[in-house]
Amino acid sequence: MTAPASIELSHVHRSFRIGGRIGGTQRELIAVDDVSLTLPRGGVLGVVGESGCGKSTLARIVMGLLDPTSGAVKVAGQTLSEMDRRARARLIQLVPQDPFSSLNPRRKVKDNIALPLRAQGGTSSREIESRVAELMGLVGLRPDMGTRYPAELSGGQRQRVAIARALVLGPQIVVCDEPTSALDVSVQAQILNLLARLRRELDLSLIFISHNLAVVEHIATEVAVMYLGRVVEQAPAAELFRNPRHPYTQALLNSVLTPEPGLGLPESGLGDTPPDPSNLPQGCRFHPRCRFAQDICRSAAPPRLSGLGTAECHFAEQFDGNHNKDQMQLGGLPE
Ligand code: SF4
Repeated sequence: MTAPASIELSHVHRSFRIGGRIGGTQRELIAVDDVSLTLPRGGVLGVVGESGCGKSTLARIVMGLLDPTSGAVKVAGQTLSEMDRRARARLIQLVPQDPFSSLNPRRKVKDNIALPLRAQGGTSSREIESRVAELMGLVGLRPDMGTRYPAELSGGQRQRVAIARALVLGPQIVVCDEPTSALDVSVQAQILNLLARLRRELDLSLIFISHNLAVVEHIATEVAVMYLGRVVEQAPAAELFRNPRHPYTQALLNSVLTPEPGLGLPESGLGDTPPDPSNLPQGCRFHPRCRFAQDICRSAAPPRLSGLGTAECHFAEQFDGNHNKDQMQLGGLPE
């Protein structure tokens, strides 16, 4: 029998009501719109997009911290909403963006790592001590660091503590929310390599959230590109980087001038103003920024075209196998 996928999202939608206080008009903000994704056991799903695209909301839904407005989330074959908090914690854990604010500054490193085990209950002090020592070794922290406080560690060491804490319950899935963006460039590659090694050794499934395609390329097996709440393109990582079919993916890829993680996205040609999720454009949501936009793009939402992956663009089939940066930059559709 095939093992269940680590994560299955089916038509997940999440919206919020915003405004409306002191006589203002309430508006609906659609943060996640009809997202369906499957992550097999041991895979790494990179979720990429600009600020406000919905990737952090999606991460909170996957973690069970936020309920979807509609749609279903399954984790290791179980419906997430039917699991209690402790069971969820044993299956899925988070490595946050900023380890400093996520660690308790008044607790020693070893107590920060042990926290999820203590919260579960039923484990003796000796077992906890042994498990913490094992995890510290696994993530490359010296034993003497256990008695230090987070403020006494470097940023990279603190992120190793956060990773050890995320792994202490032996989860199957780890959500990494921009786990290297708060670190010095020299340390980012070390943390990425550590996560890649842990994935292999522990057969973890990772959801890797990032605005930086260069980072995602380094680690992901599958990539989902989000724009204004929708997954506009999804494909196996090698395919997406070789043959992007959506103009937004193209723009992001064209902006990555260096494989050096941590330098952020250089000029993308998309402009400085991020789109407003509370004021969605008609038709294709990307059309105000798309150099290939035609009349149909302004009036009709594009279908989701399937192939090796999916792409939501009226012209995805024409872009398929026709990736030509010069042509794209000149603003012409492929013949
Ligand atoms: Fe651009 Fe039109 Fe494709 Fe949208 S549907 S990405 S506007 S070409």
